Amino acid sequence: MSDSHSPLPALPGTNWPTFQPGWVWLAGAGPGDPGLLTLHALNALRQADVIVYDALVQKAILEWAPQAEHIYAGKRGGKPSAKQRDISLHLVELARAGKRVLRLKGGDPFVFGRGGEEGQTLVQHGVPIRIIPGISAGIGGLAYAGIPVTHRDVNQSVTFVTGHDQTGDTPSSLNWKAIADGAQVLVIYMGMKHVDRIANALLDAGRDPMEPAAVVTSATTEDQNVLETTLGTMAADIAAANLKPPSILCIGRSVLMRQALDWQSIAQGFEPRNDDPLGRGRPAEAS
Ligand code: SAH
Repeated sequence: MSDSHSPLPALPGTNWPTFQPGWVWLAGAGPGDPGLLTLHALNALRQADVIVYDALVQKAILEWAPQAEHIYAGKRGGKPSAKQRDISLHLVELARAGKRVLRLKGGDPFVFGRGGEEGQTLVQHGVPIRIIPGISAGIGGLAYAGIPVTHRDVNQSVTFVTGHDQTGDTPSSLNWKAIADGAQVLVIYMGMKHVDRIANALLDAGRDPMEPAAVVTSATTEDQNVLETTLGTMAADIAAANLKPPSILCIGRSVLMRQALDWQSIAQGFEPRNDDPLGRGRPAEAS
């Protein structure tokens, strides 16, 4: 494959998998910032004939695959699952037509991303697949907000939760009492719509209303916004700030680590050093 038309440098090494016609590669695009793509995803973008992408995939990433047809398959949370079946069957059709099909999803395809369902349908229809993991918003998005999902002084476990089920409701299968009792740090995807119900369920089950919480919207993009709040006030604070999805909610003491690790704000206090070839900053002098 020639890279002469690509704005990107060639991938290092030579053993990158070749995208065969009739295959579907299910890949994660990461939480937003194109730099958080994996090299396998980039290798896929360069070879794909068609890319079927979701709402949260940034346009800049698709621009790296000008040779491919781009098909939007965004789903809004809570729509009936029939549409999911249509997407899966469309992937089957494209593969059977001999295309190299890249199914590109936000974050990681297997984390609240229905990648498993699509993979199952493809395999049931005899379509060979490859899975390319991605950086999930609940990990990478929080890292961009300066929140480590684990920290030795804070937690030895982390609980990932979805705030939506297939009907768009708060998942009734979740045992909120058990989560409240057992989860050291909670990372909630798709939680903003029902944040009042989620917070109340946790409070009713005995969580402390003063527990630190953060809401990270459009994480890792230029629009990233971080709201620091508490479990008791997060629903009201989200409404007052008029925050828009996508968002990751984090509940737990890890949020306090932002004081030391909110690297994007901290970087604003650094000035580039001309004598440092890597362009690393040093703290600005106190004024
Ligand atoms: N597979 C994805 C999650 C898909 S579900 C992953 O691994 O990240 C979609 C939800 O992910 C959104 O409603 C939101 O809760 C979260 N999400 C995805 N990208 C996000 C981003 N850039 N900022 C904040 N939340 C994000």
